[in-house]
Amino acid sequence: DTDHSGADVSPTEPTLDEPIDDLALEVCGLTKIYPDGTLAVDDIDFSITDGDFCVLIGPSGCGKSTTLHSLVGKIPVTEGEIRLGGKNVTDAPTYERDIGLVFQDFQLFPHLTVEENIAYGLERLGVEKDERTTRVNDIVEMMRLGDLIERQPEELSAGQKQRVALARSMVLEPRLLLLDEPLGDMDYKLQKHMERELLRLHRELDTTFVYVTHDQTQAMRLADQIVVMNDGKVEQSDTVERVYNEPATAFVSAFVGDSN
Ligand code: ADP
Ligand code: MG
Repeated sequence: DTDHSGADVSPTEPTLDEPIDDLALEVCGLTKIYPDGTLAVDDIDFSITDGDFCVLIGPSGCGKSTTLHSLVGKIPVTEGEIRLGGKNVTDAPTYERDIGLVFQDFQLFPHLTVEENIAYGLERLGVEKDERTTRVNDIVEMMRLGDLIERQPEELSAGQKQRVALARSMVLEPRLLLLDEPLGDMDYKLQKHMERELLRLHRELDTTFVYVTHDQTQAMRLADQIVVMNDGKVEQSDTVERVYNEPATAFVSAFVGDSN
């Protein structure tokens, strides 16, 4: 296992002293205590390789949404550091973070059409009309929303709303896209369809995904990398294969085993 110089060539664990180009996200010692004293996220560390489909999984109340809301800057963190592409964004305002968030309940603007919903963020960023039109058209085509652009959100099915919510985040071309249980309210058949859509999109886009779910089998179908959380802590952050074959803790073993 040594090369001609005698140096160890086995893969080494990256340390945070050396900048690592291919990490989209690094989370170091992230802690969130809500004003009422609830310790929701307790000194967690994980990192995500650029371009990966990362699934953040754990039981209800373990701190998944709190983690996402911290990453995007929706809530201030109590302690710790968030680095995006090597840049410390812990205290940066949301609009400077280059991170998109898709909520479970979509949060589309009810009074705007599909097209206006998708264009809204670009307009707010001051993107010129011509470029806005081009980017909206591109994403509408990619998400196969062409027939729906004139509709109001109330005229859409759950799956269609989800595609609009995704398009609205994606059109801003974030480096990191966070998805908080985006298929939670859909029936099984629609979930499977949307999973395929998400995997296709992830292949087509130059974006790193962090996808939150409490569904172990869904995690297995989607993930390159899995971060398992329990009670505010990260139990394991690893490839799918290693999480399933070499669970780091009894919790991971039991939680992952549930799906079999
Ligand atoms: P998950 O998304 O994994 O279900 P959350 O991040 O929503 O978990 O919640 C983690 C913990 O923080 C839970 O105990 C929850 O009750 C608590 N919590 C979430 N939001 C707040 C808040 N705004 N104020 C106080 N406690 C909160
Ligand atoms: Mg949640």
